[in-house]
Amino acid sequence: MEKICVAVRVRPSANEESVIGSHWNVESNRISLHKSDGTPISGISFAFDHLFDQECSNAKVYELLTKDIIHAAVEGFNGTAFAYGQTSSGKTFTMNGSENDPGIINRAVRDIFAKIQLTSDREFLIRVSYMEIYNEDINDLFAVEGQKLHIHESLERGVYVAGLREEIVNSADQVLNLIQLGEVNRHFGETNMNARSSRSHTIFRMVIESKAKDSNSSNSSSPDDAIRVSVLNLVDLAGSERIAKTGAGGVRLKEGKHINKSLMVLGNVINKLSEGGKQRGHIPYRDSKLTRILQPALGGNAKTSIICTVAPEEVHIEETKGTLQFASRAK
Ligand code: ADP
Ligand code: MG
Repeated sequence: MEKICVAVRVRPSANEESVIGSHWNVESNRISLHKSDGTPISGISFAFDHLFDQECSNAKVYELLTKDIIHAAVEGFNGTAFAYGQTSSGKTFTMNGSENDPGIINRAVRDIFAKIQLTSDREFLIRVSYMEIYNEDINDLFAVEGQKLHIHESLERGVYVAGLREEIVNSADQVLNLIQLGEVNRHFGETNMNARSSRSHTIFRMVIESKAKDSNSSNSSSPDDAIRVSVLNLVDLAGSERIAKTGAGGVRLKEGKHINKSLMVLGNVINKLSEGGKQRGHIPYRDSKLTRILQPALGGNAKTSIICTVAPEEVHIEETKGTLQFASRAK
């Protein structure tokens, strides 16, 4: 079992004013809560594989946290990278980036095609898909109408989303254009797209298939001749804030319950995976659609990283603690 790599990223403060109350202090790979006078509050301090402060770029996050997963995917290993955190903490900024600092998805896609170019002894077939899980309904973001898709399982395909479009792609630009179309589809008919995107999980998936060129040549028994297929998931999770804070009943409450349940199941799955060893027991992938869809590339020899994004402001301290606790349990 591969170790899950866990990082925390603190976004820049939205307020101009200087820190007056309790605040988070970042030092190397540790984040601690300090009182307004600067003294640490005992017991509220967490260490991770990486800690990215407010100055850190998406380029650096990609380099330290995701690049290895991407390169391994080209070599045939499954991988999944998640962004977890409360709404407005920087998940989408990390995954999708900005014009000046492209996000993980953009960098991953470009890197994959660059690496393929350098792998001259193999032929590649790349397929991409893009889906959203909203209120436990699966929607295809490459399709204009949000149809509810179902999860199936078969001997030859394993677990899959039936009817999900998979586009065969030949270049990074082609993929990035498709993703833009997907974003348009997601917003279709939504009066408040921000509210919706913070309540849905988005999974961008690439399936990378390759086989050796000249596979009938004399050394056809070498393992490199085998067809390799790997699945890479890049996941922007729904906001992790607790329902109570979201307030309202009705639709919001229903959404909140679904989100809390699937994030809880994800937490349970990741805990089990990170425990490792013989006593680990049953891994509850089947308890949510999210974990079921991700199952083939989560656990086993798949490479996994989680970036937990947090907001630095004092009003968010409780949610930030919750996120850091989630992150700690994933280690
Ligand atoms: P989330 O997807 O978690 O709800 P967003 O990624 O939309 O949060 O971030 C909320 C706001 O903060 C956006 O305006 C975003 O551009 C900004 N932001 C988030 N993280 C960073 C960062 N590391 N650097 C600069 N701006 C950021
Ligand atoms: Mg977002």
